[in-house]
Amino acid sequence: MDIDPILNGLNAAQRTAVTSPTSVLQVLAPPGSGKTKTLTARVAYLLSSKHHGFRPQDVICCTFTIKASREMRERLSHLIGDQVVSKLVLGTFHSICRRYLVAYGHLIGLKKGFGIADSNDSLTIIKRIIKRLNLNIQPNPARSRISSQKAQGICWQDLDNARHSKNVEQQEFVQVYREYEAALASSNLLDYDDLLLRCVDLLRKHPQCVSNVQAVLVDEFQDTNAIQYELMNLFAAQNRRITIVGDPDQSIYGFRSAETKNLERMQRRYPNTSVVLLENNYRSSGSILRSAQQVIEQDAARPVKKLHPTHGIGTMPVLRKLPTAAAEAQWMVAEIRRCITLTGQLLKPSDFAILLRSAALSRQIESELGKQGVPYRMVGGSRFFDRVEIRLLLDYLRVISHPENNDALARIINVPTRKIGDETLKNLTVGAESAKLSLWSFIKDVVQGRRSCQKSLSRPANIGLSTLVGLIEAARQKLHDCVDESSPRTLLEFVISKLGFREYLTATYPLDEENRWANVEEFLAQAGDSSASYSQQDDVLPEIEGLEQHQGHIGEEALSRFLANVALSTEVTTEQGDQPQEKVTISTIHAAKGLEWPVVFVAAVYEGIIPHSRAEDSDEERRLLYVAMTRAQALLYLSLPRRDSKNGEETRPSSFLPPSIAETKFRAVGPKFVDKTIFGIADILGREHPSQEAIITGLQSGLPSLNDDLWTHNDEYTGDKAMRWDGSQVLSSLDGRGQA
Ligand code: ATP
Ligand code: MG
Repeated sequence: MDIDPILNGLNAAQRTAVTSPTSVLQVLAPPGSGKTKTLTARVAYLLSSKHHGFRPQDVICCTFTIKASREMRERLSHLIGDQVVSKLVLGTFHSICRRYLVAYGHLIGLKKGFGIADSNDSLTIIKRIIKRLNLNIQPNPARSRISSQKAQGICWQDLDNARHSKNVEQQEFVQVYREYEAALASSNLLDYDDLLLRCVDLLRKHPQCVSNVQAVLVDEFQDTNAIQYELMNLFAAQNRRITIVGDPDQSIYGFRSAETKNLERMQRRYPNTSVVLLENNYRSSGSILRSAQQVIEQDAARPVKKLHPTHGIGTMPVLRKLPTAAAEAQWMVAEIRRCITLTGQLLKPSDFAILLRSAALSRQIESELGKQGVPYRMVGGSRFFDRVEIRLLLDYLRVISHPENNDALARIINVPTRKIGDETLKNLTVGAESAKLSLWSFIKDVVQGRRSCQKSLSRPANIGLSTLVGLIEAARQKLHDCVDESSPRTLLEFVISKLGFREYLTATYPLDEENRWANVEEFLAQAGDSSASYSQQDDVLPEIEGLEQHQGHIGEEALSRFLANVALSTEVTTEQGDQPQEKVTISTIHAAKGLEWPVVFVAAVYEGIIPHSRAEDSDEERRLLYVAMTRAQALLYLSLPRRDSKNGEETRPSSFLPPSIAETKFRAVGPKFVDKTIFGIADILGREHPSQEAIITGLQSGLPSLNDDLWTHNDEYTGDKAMRWDGSQVLSSLDGRGQA
């Protein structure tokens, strides 16, 4: 019997899951056991005409990040073809919800053309409210608290009603929450939480919007929060056909209200749920797996689970202590370069990831990578889009797309300068508020002489305002004339030229103009690349009889989709011009979920960072280290500085580290490295062994100086000896092994 290509390369347990006839299925399994692979195959199976034959537009598949959905789209394309995949409703919960709201938001009274407030916008709004009302609470915690209330479905009215105590802090919070909601509404903005909440509202009131849906699939289910869980149920309301995959040991979003309880909740709600367990690990070497296991097993409350390595033991994880954080960064980058050279190019920059507890730790590493000329990209940290010059251009685009965005308009009103000072802006804002108009409508009226401000405007301010209004109106006309998907780039070019943006940068940042302009060029490239943003197909929902979908203007929709994608993405390309496959990844551990790399560095593994000194849940901190370690396929490096760079105090290695790796000395250099490590790496990655010539060339080119310290730390070879290697020694060592 021919094996179905969909089932090719899957083990028995994975096949059972893919072909399971039950409609509600949970696949629970440890990292690297092929959950995502299995989920992907199940999507293909559901669509296959030989099996269920569902229409792709009737299947919803939720991934945790935009990157993960792109990867899944790619994998599926191989299995079932681009055509079919492009119709699938595949994305993050946020992007899928946005899609439903664009199409059907009018049914719940959402104004069309809403914008998305990203976390920066939210913070700005909250800061402004706190300042205006002269309150004592801190903006950042207030924002997280609002978000966590929303994630639990608690609105400010609920809190207001429940306000038994006269606790001042609580009262202030409710005030901020209320004003925040009002500010979003007046700018026709939805924040991340609103995208989910409003979609829940939509689907509860108008379940026919998802009446076509045949199946719902969710990856990384352990990190769904209450609202996402509810959405999943609503999506699946018609046919109750759900597949989820997850691993409670990798739940690391409790701080954002994720609830592992959802697993049991789901089993209670759907009594016919079947559970499939996967036990083989295909990702990591045996020794990496064993160390990771030792970390997670410290959690005594956790049920014992089986996990079998499918690869050999490989190279032991390395723990290194460096004098300072700067030295740690230097060592990591040198080590990356050395690995690339020593393995005869078996490894390339994109095979390496540096994982951090928080993005704030990345600065030194970024600068060291820059210094040593290693290209990198940063994921989940301070984003490319948050750079001042990019942010400004984005604000222009946002106002053009959506002029009611009061905050964005306020930010661009006097940048570049138009003689509209803070007082004038305040004057205009007050005017708009009392006229119950958006800032934009009010300004337009003022410019056209239909209204006036309380205090009349100076002549220069008046001129400045009309210039701005003229620019935005011209841009909106241009947008309207744009009847294809090129609008993001067209508008961006328009703004840049009308503002004389390059000259503005030169005048404002004389020392840094070149860098900033390079960023602008990168941004232009991204705006022109419709595949980088998600394409039009991502926005189409199937037609449903009796339900009218909002059909927008194609150019306007393309711009708004581009902006939504920017708001919802965490990924950044920092260097330009290079092939994306040639970059080292720096990522927060949180953003690295579900991904894998041949070589992983986990930096700053010390008490206070992992576990974090402010963390409330130490089990979650342990799982975080577990997630980080289990990203590695062939080599795992853990490191810490001897002194904390903030307070200069001596550090203690993370108490989560098992004794087995706390003691490791540096290995993996010398002919032994060549012999075992390189071939071992190639085997785990399923790559061809590098040629002897390549290895010899690598060894001869050396990369010495920085690594003197490393060479001498080797068990078997002194630094001296190591430096004296030559090709013949390597060759004899290879010969001795009798060729793999
Ligand atoms: P995580 O919990 O980290 O998200 P996961 O369980 O989703 O991990 P996958 O990412 O699906 O795991 O798979 C991990 C690696 O193992 C991938 O490189 C995948 O291609 C490979 N893999 C999965 N199943 C098999 C198999 N049956 N045979 C060979 N390789 C496999
Ligand atoms: Mg996965």
